Amino acid sequence: MKASETLIATLREVPQDAVIASHQLMLRSGLLRRLGNGLFAYLPLGLKAFRKVEAIIREEMDAIGALEFRPSVIVPGELWRESGRWETMGEGMLRVKNRVNQELVVSPTAEEAFTALIRDELSSYKQLPITGYQINTKYRDEIRPRYGVMRGREFTMKDAYSYHANQESLDEVYEKFASAYRKIFRRLSLTVIPVKADTGAMGGTGSEEFMVESPVGDDTLILCASCGYAANTEKASCASDADMSLVKTDKAVEEIDTPNVKTIEELSAFLDTKPQTFIKTLIYKALNSELDLTKAPGSASLKRVTETGRAAPFYPESFFAVCIRGDLDINEAKLAALVKASELELASDEDVERFTQAPVGFAGPVGLDSLPIIVDNSVLAMHDAVTGGLKKDVHLLHVEPSRDFSFFLSGDIRTVVAGDICINCGKTYHSTKGNELGHIFKLGDKYTKSMGVSFLDENGKLQTPTMGCYGIGVDRSLASIIEEHHDENGIVWPMNIAPYQVVIVPIKYNGQMKEIADNLYEGLRKEGIEVLLDDRDERPGVKFKDMDLIGIPVRVLVGEKNLPNVEIKERNKSSADLVLVEEAKDFVTKLVKEALAKHAHSSES
Ligand code: ATP
Ligand code: MG
Repeated sequence: MKASETLIATLREVPQDAVIASHQLMLRSGLLRRLGNGLFAYLPLGLKAFRKVEAIIREEMDAIGALEFRPSVIVPGELWRESGRWETMGEGMLRVKNRVNQELVVSPTAEEAFTALIRDELSSYKQLPITGYQINTKYRDEIRPRYGVMRGREFTMKDAYSYHANQESLDEVYEKFASAYRKIFRRLSLTVIPVKADTGAMGGTGSEEFMVESPVGDDTLILCASCGYAANTEKASCASDADMSLVKTDKAVEEIDTPNVKTIEELSAFLDTKPQTFIKTLIYKALNSELDLTKAPGSASLKRVTETGRAAPFYPESFFAVCIRGDLDINEAKLAALVKASELELASDEDVERFTQAPVGFAGPVGLDSLPIIVDNSVLAMHDAVTGGLKKDVHLLHVEPSRDFSFFLSGDIRTVVAGDICINCGKTYHSTKGNELGHIFKLGDKYTKSMGVSFLDENGKLQTPTMGCYGIGVDRSLASIIEEHHDENGIVWPMNIAPYQVVIVPIKYNGQMKEIADNLYEGLRKEGIEVLLDDRDERPGVKFKDMDLIGIPVRVLVGEKNLPNVEIKERNKSSADLVLVEEAKDFVTKLVKEALAKHAHSSES
């Protein structure tokens, strides 16, 4: 391609609303433009790189036997009613109506569409397992689209869905995806941290997220450098760390006046001691808890519901007093899992006052018998503690957890932070911010059951298939490649993603220089090299700056001064080679092909 015949749309200025490198560079190098909030257009150069990311993902999906489908992006709302997600998806899902008032959904994901397709085709176990995928448009009405295509509203996702006769088959295909994803990210030159999210709360079936480190990441990762433990902070566990400075006491519990002292900080200052000596007590409201609370304090007033199709009876609404060491925070995701609730929130001031018989700020476990008490493991190792006194302006001293109060349930419900002790190896964690690039998940029969998918097994018995789902963001992966591969002058593309592999820059596009440049251009094209010829009538400095910004891996400079040589420079190196004109084609071809070979699909894992 000649530069004069494509769209080189570089910008010298950093666009105002772009704060991260990939967003700035995609705009500045003319890969991308903004059409609206969270809505973008790839320009020709950007689309070339985008297509290469897509192609790698497609190749690895095909290699594990996934079948490519092409469902419409707009799907009937009816399918979402069948799965029950019409109600639960919330504002993130864009719903539209057509001229005959039919409800439609702009796909934010496609479990429903694929499950409906499979439902119609599936009759026998002999057809299973089957895995379908698409690389297609998604729309999510993100509240705060940001960082360019990292979090857009419209974006492209590779999403795959697998259907199985049994758990072993799901496990097998899931493992294939786990290794295909590793290959994909390796071929994209992306350093990912696979994070296992295999918690009891999800039934222990299996889920893994592929994260990239990013200072603007939306997730916090807890990592152990020593054993490789990696978890999202929502799920991370840590070993218990008793505070050895807390010594058991024989003293009886003592009330003290603490006028206007409500927060842990105020209390620390008032008593001149550290937050580790306090037991913090918070009252939570839980929705749809499946715990058995019949023997719990305060259970008489709770309504318990048994619903057909639901494994266990549940309490639409219940309350808990939750205790944790004063210097720690409660992780609501872990707490929700412990109390088997679908949702959790801090109780209102009114509810707190009703349960504790005191204003907010004086809750404590001693003498609290209006609701079940849940303690974090940290509390089990505490001694001689300070707690709220269940009266206005009163706290209690010398509280011994097992002596002075009992609890309904204990567990690990703290938010793990850097410096906590690794659950696996006892070393300390560090933490980092990350962005999710991909996610693989064993779904079970949630969709196949609610949408009535069935097949006949070997014995002629009707069964429900089990299901897995697997996603990768194409745009976010592309942006992440730029995050990982750029310098102060622009993008430094890996050879296999670059919009063009080689650029030929004649100092002046006329006379002998034009002839050499044209010859080399044609020669390289015949070798199958993707080459751009910068034939624009611009100063050499401008051309160099543009091509560095765009990040083309190999630059061939044709200048009178260097003849009979041309200067060949790789974008990721500071030095250049002088190569005889007649050897330049082979030299460049070898460079490109060797680099490509490193990223090619291979059957070994
Ligand atoms: P996030 O927590 O970042 O919102 P998610 O958990 O909603 O991600 P999934 O539903 O698992 O994401 O979607 C699969 C992949 O789609 C993500 O790993 C990510 O790469 C991509 N993705 C999700 N939302 C967006 C978005 N708004 N813009 C670009 N890519 C996205
Ligand atoms: Mg999301």
